[in-house]
Amino acid sequence: MLLFNSLTRAKEPFALPADRPVTLYVCGVTPYDTTHMGHARTYMVFDVLVRYLRGQGAEVRYCQNVTDVDDPLFERAKRDGLGWQELAERQVAQYVEDCRGLNMLPPTYFPRASEEIETMITIIARLIELGHAYVADDNIYFSVRSDPDFGKMARMGYEELLATANQRGNDPSDPRKRDPLDFILWQTGKPDDPTWPSPWGPGRPGWHIECSAMATRYLGDQVDIHGGGADLIFPHHPCEIAQTEPVTGKRPFVHIWMHAGLVWLDGEKMSKSLGNLVFARDALREYGPDPIRWYLLSQHYREEFAYSRETVALCATLTAQLRAASAASGGGALPLDLSRACAEFHAAMADDLNTPTALALLHTMVGDTLAAAAEARDVTAASTTVRDLATLLGFTLGL
Ligand SMILES: [Zn+2]
Repeated sequence: MLLFNSLTRAKEPFALPADRPVTLYVCGVTPYDTTHMGHARTYMVFDVLVRYLRGQGAEVRYCQNVTDVDDPLFERAKRDGLGWQELAERQVAQYVEDCRGLNMLPPTYFPRASEEIETMITIIARLIELGHAYVADDNIYFSVRSDPDFGKMARMGYEELLATANQRGNDPSDPRKRDPLDFILWQTGKPDDPTWPSPWGPGRPGWHIECSAMATRYLGDQVDIHGGGADLIFPHHPCEIAQTEPVTGKRPFVHIWMHAGLVWLDGEKMSKSLGNLVFARDALREYGPDPIRWYLLSQHYREEFAYSRETVALCATLTAQLRAASAASGGGALPLDLSRACAEFHAAMADDLNTPTALALLHTMVGDTLAAAAEARDVTAASTTVRDLATLLGFTLGL
């Protein structure tokens, strides 16, 4: 199949490995607020990828982490007068319930950053030895000047990289940094933040190192596919590359970088900071999983998604027809043959997960099946095809 690699900005062939599982790492949630449709879209894209690869006969090892060592979690816990672990526990449980409600397959590994600190410390120590990181007071920074390829995925000049990093939490005025773009590997944090022991004193890891540690620990030095939301194209994913490759000595760290476009609502990015969120559990209560899935897959995963509540409601009609066609039976003559449309469906999926085309084809197959059933034609094979393809895309069909 072909998959678009954000690093090369080209569709590249991805062949299933013959002698080992496919490895997939997807950056997970920071558990401090309920799952919104931006999360739902990103994780649904990778859910469909996993289903598709398994449908091709591949074993897939899918690691999705929980970023439970992160400023927003600690800040929210303080604001609400809760322990950070208590808040994280509650929010992870909600997230898992939302994903299950959306009929997403559970990842093979679901590690929490707070339980993987040892691996992070090992990588940081090696980066210091190799001259890629330095200690300043009690903090440790990655030196971006030590990596001539730093930030390549973003295709920006230095000033633009810095401006983007600043928008996304970088502190350029930290006097301990050699370069304003250097990023934290280990920090003492604020006085009441949680800390873990380390060779450099008690502290906690930076966000980026968490994913390098969990990806390599669970999936190995090199990963087939690594994904996340498009806002991770810089700085998070380039930081992961910069930290990981010198330590493992293997390039590339990741063969295919996949990014799902962000979800917008009423002309603005759906985000916690703007407060314009549609929560997965509210949408699930209103529409159920299949209409949401149809809706989220109806646009290509790389495009930005303009969420509209009215359109989700329209998808309920389509998924009701899907359910009817997958259960259609009977008839004795003129069997309906969907093999050509079915082949086109698979070709669309193999072309960088073109779910809009796949859904359009499925919709036509559904219409043909229902029409043939109404004419008392034989739809036994056709309804099986519809059911198989719907299941491949992760529809529950009310089961
Ligand atoms: Zn990550």
